[in-house]
Amino acid sequence: MSPKVEIIFLGTGGGRFATITQQRRTAGIRMIGEDLNLHLDPGPGALVYSISEGLDPQKLNAVFVSHCHPDHYTDAEVLIEAMTHGMTQKHGTLAAGKSVLHGSNVCDSSISRYHQAMVEHVIEATPNKRFQLGNLDVGVTEARHTDPDAVGFRFKTDYGDFAYTSDTEYYEDIGKYYEKVRLLVLCVMRPAGKPWKGHMTTDDAIRIIEETRPELAILTHLGMQMIFKGPSKEARLIEERTKVPTFAAVDGMRIAFGERIDVRMPNKAQQHDLNRFL
Ligand SMILES: [Zn+2]
Ligand SMILES: [Zn+2]
Repeated sequence: MSPKVEIIFLGTGGGRFATITQQRRTAGIRMIGEDLNLHLDPGPGALVYSISEGLDPQKLNAVFVSHCHPDHYTDAEVLIEAMTHGMTQKHGTLAAGKSVLHGSNVCDSSISRYHQAMVEHVIEATPNKRFQLGNLDVGVTEARHTDPDAVGFRFKTDYGDFAYTSDTEYYEDIGKYYEKVRLLVLCVMRPAGKPWKGHMTTDDAIRIIEETRPELAILTHLGMQMIFKGPSKEARLIEERTKVPTFAAVDGMRIAFGERIDVRMPNKAQQHDLNRFL
């Protein structure tokens, strides 16, 4: 068995106002395992918080960008500069939505050709594509969002699968992409009762979690209305409805994904022992 994967929530904010105000950090998610050092959706703050959390960006071997919105891509180029040792060595993998790599009718490309050229493997992430990253098998999931090329990612490990939805609205069949995942990370921008086309609310998260029944669900990419409403209250509501253990991520939270799924809060005093997720 390969060692477990550590998932570090460098940022848990999402959307324009959470980003502008930094009510929550928007630095995305780092994943570290054997042969794996991946930054997923590096929004503003990804470089700074990587360094302040002691995660050397020069050790990266992959950068994933789900779509062409700034809260997901702004730090991608500097992280590529770090990954390629200051653009001196062609190195690593960049997996990104079509719009991120090439632009589309809604946006220009989010990562320059100069930066894309220094990455060893550039993968255009389109729904249902599968590719290998070290010893992980990665699947691309479909997201329905205001960037039509937005995607999510599903990671297959020796211990089962975990997945990240990215920004998406609920759609019929979304559950199929996340069947049998043990850990599901959902980008829940808005609280219950506040629908917004192209985005996920607590109500949508309930439907997805009911359809997929992971061992643990994590809410992240929290928008301003969600932050004001109280993300942990929304997580409790989901848990009550679905009976699936659900947590609202906080900045600096870490999850060790192995035989067990252990959640560690950033402040030792707040550490939660979640052995119940065995
Ligand atoms: Zn977003
Ligand atoms: Zn978005």
